[in-house]
Amino acid sequence: MNTSDAPPGLAHQSTVRTVARVLAVVLLLSGVVLLVRGISGFVDQAQSMEVSADFGPVLTIAAGGFCVVLGLAAANVGWMRAQASYVAGETVPVVKQSLEHLTAGPTCRQCGTRNDTSARFCDSCGQSLA
Ligand SMILES: [Zn+2]
Repeated sequence: MNTSDAPPGLAHQSTVRTVARVLAVVLLLSGVVLLVRGISGFVDQAQSMEVSADFGPVLTIAAGGFCVVLGLAAANVGWMRAQASYVAGETVPVVKQSLEHLTAGPTCRQCGTRNDTSARFCDSCGQSLA
């Protein structure tokens, strides 16, 4: 079987991505709900001035935090392509520009100034580079 034509990544890449996004949204939402419920329960408990051994609110907050962390991890996987595209879009033009500066463009026959690869006239003396 020829696998060289296959796109890079997992066999079910887009499915994984969709699942990760759905998972991220569900986990973040339930995490926030758990956090809010846990905190309000914690506040209620503090206001009632009862020293109880009830760890319910604390556990709820912990569970909420856990869900949020997992949700963020899933979001990272689900939107990695968008992130990578963004980063590439930001960095590639800069890298390209830098490389154009580093690679030798046409050198002026008159004054010896090295010009940009796309330059048609010398930056320094205006001599035609054609
Ligand atoms: Zn020149």
